[in-house]
Amino acid sequence: MCGIAGVYAPGHEAAAVAALGLFALQHRGQESAGVGVSDGEGVMVYRDLGMVAQVLDERRLPSLRGHLAIAHCRYSTTGSTLWENSQPAFRLGPRRTVAIGHNGNLVNTRELVERLPGGRARLQGSTDTELLTALLADAPGEDLVDALLDLLPLVKGAYSLVVMDEQRLIALRDPHGFRPLVLGRLPAGPREATTEAVDFDPGWCVASETAALDTMGAEYVRDVAPGEMVILGEGPRPRSIRFAEGRENLCVFELIYFARPDSYMLGRNLYEARRRMGEALAREAPADADIVLPVPDTGAPAAAGYAEQSGLPYREGMVRNRYAGRTFIQPSSALRQRGVTVKLSPLREQVRGQRLVVVDDSIVRGTTTKQIVTLLRRAGAAEVHLRISAPPIFHPCFYGIDTQIETELIASRLDLDGIREFVGADSLAYLSIGGVLDALELPRERFCFACFDGQYPLPVPYDVGSHKFVLEEELISVET
Ligand code: SF4
Repeated sequence: MCGIAGVYAPGHEAAAVAALGLFALQHRGQESAGVGVSDGEGVMVYRDLGMVAQVLDERRLPSLRGHLAIAHCRYSTTGSTLWENSQPAFRLGPRRTVAIGHNGNLVNTRELVERLPGGRARLQGSTDTELLTALLADAPGEDLVDALLDLLPLVKGAYSLVVMDEQRLIALRDPHGFRPLVLGRLPAGPREATTEAVDFDPGWCVASETAALDTMGAEYVRDVAPGEMVILGEGPRPRSIRFAEGRENLCVFELIYFARPDSYMLGRNLYEARRRMGEALAREAPADADIVLPVPDTGAPAAAGYAEQSGLPYREGMVRNRYAGRTFIQPSSALRQRGVTVKLSPLREQVRGQRLVVVDDSIVRGTTTKQIVTLLRRAGAAEVHLRISAPPIFHPCFYGIDTQIETELIASRLDLDGIREFVGADSLAYLSIGGVLDALELPRERFCFACFDGQYPLPVPYDVGSHKFVLEEELISVET
């Protein structure tokens, strides 16, 4: 996960626009937020632990001046939740100044750290992004684009990046396109924060999701292609370079769960895609029940589809505290367990005495689901039939989702009935991979399904049991 945005907006304060985009991407990472900004002369980065609105508030933003900006909100897949690991990562190197925001996860971090003169000891934090930034700041060649073209063939893994120096913003996507990235166009003419009647050239922006283009006031232009870099800041139009042959394997979980329902990916609106997954689930796994309930908020589109297809009434049976973070996105198990109890409350009048079909979009570790079933039973549910609008997650993800330890995944340890028993449901069924694809009406080849079927598009070259903290292990070995 992680959310990234970038803005090139001549005559406008780009950091404020990028912060608006980042605000729409808050669901992608809630540990830290930050902005890098340039007025053409120098790059300044401001970042901190916390939510976007806390970090980039109205006191801070006016001091971040310039027409180029990148922004990032973090969900950790490499390194702990520390200030040093917040992004954009920034490096004033011997050859250039560079700032990077990264969505994804590299799989050859150990190899890359060996290429950094001075090694791990030169990094303040423990993220693959800081390592990439240090390598790029040191890389030979006057030009940032050339330095990237030299560096990228060495980099393996999932990376959608926004990279900036004083003059340019470069947005790029790894050759597999694991994580999304879209290009948008800002309108010409006076901008909303401008009091002078001055017309400006159109600006350009990039973001993890189309929903962020909406909040930035931009029009969707196209996806950044896998293996493509788009360079902004050189003139009125973006320049595109193919740095590698791309073959898209977009993370299917983006469409099932992670991304916002108002975003579009591969031409599909995600609310509609999830509603269709719910319909497919009702066809594959009907239930003898009275009503259909979503697990709010992300289970709602699939629950609506399930209800329509099955003919059962759709009801809200739980209220979500909108100020609590997403359960799965909290970085430690202790926080996750506390999270669900503050996040959901039952609507007892809706639930009491009813046979429920409860629709959710995933079961990762099973602990959250178990607490939800318990909460509904305590509220008086007569039966709880759990329906999941995704296949079981058997395998860890090394491409930017924090499920790197296989034994933490309940489906890798228990069979279907074992999971049902663990979570305390009367019945349990998952949507099949075929059902997901039918709902999306897109070919299997366009996606990564590795956490469901174990077919990793990109091999992970070493023991990744402790992959998330790989650079912290390196630090320990440097220090001892
Ligand atoms: S392994 Fe799963 S979560 Fe990771 S990129 Fe592939 S589909 Fe997405």
